[in-house]
Amino acid sequence: MVSIFLTTLAAVAFVFGISNLVYFDLYLLGFIELAFFVGIVAGLIDLRRNKAVDRVAWLTVIAFGAISLVFYVYIQGAYNASIWLLWFPFVAFFLLGTQRGLSAVAVYGLIVIVIVFLNFRQWPSISEVETLSNIFGALAAVTWMTFYQARITEQAYRRISELAHTDVLTGISNRRSFVQRFDTARAARASRHQRGALLLADIDNFKEINDTHGHAAGDAVIKEVSNRIATAIRQGDIVGRLGGEEFGVLLLDCDGDEAVARADELRTRIAGEAIADEFQVTVSIGVASMNGSRDEFTAVFAAADEGLYKAKAAGRNRTVLGHPNKSRFDAQ
Ligand code: GH3
Ligand code: MG
Ligand code: MG
Repeated sequence: MVSIFLTTLAAVAFVFGISNLVYFDLYLLGFIELAFFVGIVAGLIDLRRNKAVDRVAWLTVIAFGAISLVFYVYIQGAYNASIWLLWFPFVAFFLLGTQRGLSAVAVYGLIVIVIVFLNFRQWPSISEVETLSNIFGALAAVTWMTFYQARITEQAYRRISELAHTDVLTGISNRRSFVQRFDTARAARASRHQRGALLLADIDNFKEINDTHGHAAGDAVIKEVSNRIATAIRQGDIVGRLGGEEFGVLLLDCDGDEAVARADELRTRIAGEAIADEFQVTVSIGVASMNGSRDEFTAVFAAADEGLYKAKAAGRNRTVLGHPNKSRFDAQ
């Protein structure tokens, strides 16, 4: 999005710069516009290389603000060209969002007021209160409209993102979000050479609860197991509901025996207290330690799944360490 916007801006600056230099002999303005063009192109390269979206967004807003103000001074506030001032709120809110955009617009507005104040009664067009009130009125209206629009977009985006990442029943991460967070944590972990382990916890004989007590009771059990897992993990660990009654937990800075010990602690905690004084629920847990080489989600998941499969086969309500390069499909 930002890069499409910047490319358009660069093209506009280039066309205006060249036409001001070649056709209108407005050298100062033409050069400033061309400098702006070069700045944006540098920003685009920076964006592509370093992915520093924020920095490039700020630079663009500042450059855009500066050039429009220089233009405003250059035309001595001529009302027929002051219309360009109205562009600033669009650019600021679009690139910076509502919070930072608002500060940028406030500073910009103040500078415009200072320019007007310093040249009042000297520039022909801004000596008329009517012209000024029209320009400031329009600026305020555009600011309000674009701010409002940007806020609605931000709120909608936040909501969509929340819905897309949260499991409706339990409120914890859904599978998609879990895998995403797993990948992010894996990248950070790899750069710090930290250890880690994935747990796969599946409620035992869950179908019986559904069959005997109904789906609603089953839902309540899933929720409570999710709560117990979420409160048992440490800060920085990641938990998600991967499917029906199956949960994934990424333990950070912990692998092998330690992970099995922590998984077993979790297992006893879940089995230790009946849910709603009625359901004595147990879970089986498969554990996979991450050793740095084959740490992609699918590989780690397959190892944990193999452990889970063995735990179920051995009678359930237990924790088993799974092995990499193996899955239940090639175990036999
Ligand atoms: P095992 O010990 O081997 O894991 O046996 P199980 O009965 O727990 O496993 P199985 O996979 O046979 O059954 C899982 C059941 O979970 C089947 C499905 O109807 C139920 N289920 C999946 N999602 C939900 C849900 O959101 N709510 C409820 N109530 N049940 C669900
Ligand atoms: Mg189950
Ligand atoms: Mg299951």
